[in-house]
Amino acid sequence: MQEIELKVTLNTLIEKLGHPSGTKYENLSASDKAHIEGYQDQFDPETPDFENGQCYCGEYGCKDAYEHATSGW
Ligand SMILES: [Zn+2]
Repeated sequence: MQEIELKVTLNTLIEKLGHPSGTKYENLSASDKAHIEGYQDQFDPETPDFENGQCYCGEYGCKDAYEHATSGW
């Protein structure tokens, strides 16, 4: 269960960086991998930082925050 959720999040992050859906983490450049690791470091899926505007998806100031909050993130 936890593994599936992590994969969804990872794929979403990869798409956020502008890669086509389904791009594998292994195929990213080193700088893109660093971006994703940065996201994962700042994001605790149990307790998003709502007070500072963090969305369920881990992004601060997410423009889809309402969708993410209501779609089972
Ligand atoms: Zn979001």
